[in-house]
Amino acid sequence: MAIVITDGTRYISGVTPGSKGVKIENAAEAYEFTDANAAIQYMQSDKAFTLYYYVYDTVTQKIVWKWLEPEEVARIRAAKAVWKEAAKENGLRKKNKIHRKMYSNDVKKLLYKEANGKCALCGREMTLDQVTLDHIIPLAKNGPDRVDNLQICCKGCNLLKGAALPEDFANRVNAIFLYQMERKYAHKITWKFASWMLRKLG
Ligand SMILES: [Zn+2]
Repeated sequence: MAIVITDGTRYISGVTPGSKGVKIENAAEAYEFTDANAAIQYMQSDKAFTLYYYVYDTVTQKIVWKWLEPEEVARIRAAKAVWKEAAKENGLRKKNKIHRKMYSNDVKKLLYKEANGKCALCGREMTLDQVTLDHIIPLAKNGPDRVDNLQICCKGCNLLKGAALPEDFANRVNAIFLYQMERKYAHKITWKFASWMLRKLG
């Protein structure tokens, strides 16, 4: 009997009483647990480290225990890929060294007044010192560095939007919202109906 822990491509290796070991790709070096219970205990001792992994019996070729269903792992990884893409975009913006103008407090105040103090992205009411200026069409997407391309938004939204175009940002938020709600309420009929409506609208 050989019990190993794997995510399908990598294996847990080099487990000792003092170390949780490492993740490697060479199956021949996978750590062999004495039995399934020992492997499950190992998994449960560090959920973050083993979240996408499962306990696998190489003899019966069956999954003995897992945190998540394989399709859930696939979905989480797809969502993570979206974030990676966004991070890359932000990196590019930094690399291209786009210099932004410093706008005076008067510009900020004017835009704040125009927007009734509400974040242009989430609608939250802000105090003046919570306001950040956001380029509607990002500079990284060749948006002009002019007041008419500015809107006020909260720090959280500004960070989340990054260098995305308004429509891309809306799509991303919609996708995140749908995915998170589905994970929470997938079993509820009302949500299924609401999500169907949202998809139709989107
Ligand atoms: Zn906001």
